[in-house]
Amino acid sequence: MRYISTRGQAPALSFEEVVLTGMASDGGLYVPEEIPSLSRDDLAAMAGLSYAEIAFRVMKPFVNGEIDDDTFRAIVEEAYATFSHDAVVPLNQLDANHFLLELFHGPTLAFKDVALQLLGRILDHFLKKRGERAVIMGATSGDTGSAAIEGCRHCDNLDIFILHPHNRVSEVQRRQMTTVLADNVFNVAIEGNFDDAQAMVKASFADQSFLNGTRLVAVNSINWARIMAQIVYYVASAVALGAPHRPVSFCVPSANFGNVFAGYMAYRMGLPVERFVIATNANDILHRTLAANDFSKQELKATLAPSMDIVVSSNFERLLFEAYERDGAAVASLLERFQAEPTALADAPLARLRERFASHSVDDATILEVIREAHHRTQEILDPHTATGYRAAERERGDAAVPMITLATAHPAKFAEAVVKAGFPGVPLPPHMDDLLEREERYRVLPAELSAVQRFVAENRR
Ligand SMILES: *Cc1c(COP(=O)(O)O)cnc(C)c1O
Repeated sequence: MRYISTRGQAPALSFEEVVLTGMASDGGLYVPEEIPSLSRDDLAAMAGLSYAEIAFRVMKPFVNGEIDDDTFRAIVEEAYATFSHDAVVPLNQLDANHFLLELFHGPTLAFKDVALQLLGRILDHFLKKRGERAVIMGATSGDTGSAAIEGCRHCDNLDIFILHPHNRVSEVQRRQMTTVLADNVFNVAIEGNFDDAQAMVKASFADQSFLNGTRLVAVNSINWARIMAQIVYYVASAVALGAPHRPVSFCVPSANFGNVFAGYMAYRMGLPVERFVIATNANDILHRTLAANDFSKQELKATLAPSMDIVVSSNFERLLFEAYERDGAAVASLLERFQAEPTALADAPLARLRERFASHSVDDATILEVIREAHHRTQEILDPHTATGYRAAERERGDAAVPMITLATAHPAKFAEAVVKAGFPGVPLPPHMDDLLEREERYRVLPAELSAVQRFVAENRR
């Protein structure tokens, strides 16, 4: 198994290389050269297995023997032992055929833990084997930073530097990052906004000379291993509801499209999926593209579901590559046009996408309405991201015999603002975090200057 770029011009890489690399040198994203298959027998044999065992079986072909089976199994088991629910990602039945897949039982209460608990350990394994160290740099407006820190805090060969905009992330989100006091974790509060922090990370990847040869690794969702880890819960939840003998549909609160693309990979591997419903907030590029063939950027809107506030969905490129039947040149030229001006997909690729994907955009007023309505009907308090999915799923319930699985991407305690606005007194943090507001914090405030940030990284990495 090798990995190729969606723009067709970068060298093919092994699994190890692709995990350590991030973006392809031609500006594209890496995808597997062939999509491995899960037969009906493979799926049927997963019934009743633990999440870790299903994870091992689903991911093994992507790892391609580059980590030996015993070691990989141990890595997977350790990653998912950090989740507070025995089922790791339990299904919660809302009504006759609508289920919530609770992806928020990891250390930071959002679905990004599923991928990042695994990615940190895989990176550390490869670095140890090579006798190398690496530096992770990332910018965050919330969920990714804390999940990455939790995923790397025990990694001997990694130092992680996460930049967040000073005084512009919620207290819970900041404390989830800054109360991790491990020696290899460095939180930097930038005197600027998220875009300033992001621009400094991008500039550091573009010119890494300040690190004198030490590798810089990206842990955002362009990293293939994150997609790979997310394929697993689509398979595990469908099997729990009767796959391969009956199909299911999924509804996915989406932003950068990494999560729903993982679902699409599960479908291409052989999982019977009738439909994927994409839910967006008011930042609706995915919905505009699918519904109206309007593939264009619009200004960023701050919403009650902030982890879905994006202008461009970076992983959509991976789906476009499939829709354009793996024509890297066509993808490259479409994305070049998109960067410059509003554009549209060609007819045939758009028709292919519409066969399997539906979409809905859900605004802030509706998010609040859904939180109240879902509580009234089911007693569940949804987080605002999951609320977008709940509404989109209700609108797109096709065949009543096909279960709809809505992905619950965050715990409501993490996004108390929306829950309180919806009229609830709030949601307590789960027991393992109930002293978060008393824990000691550590972070450094730095000006929004590239040289200051790079000096801090160079001086503090171990
Ligand atoms: C990151 C995130 C999303 C969006 O996921 P993508 O993979 O970027 O589409 C949705 N909900 C929550 C809570 C998130 O943290």
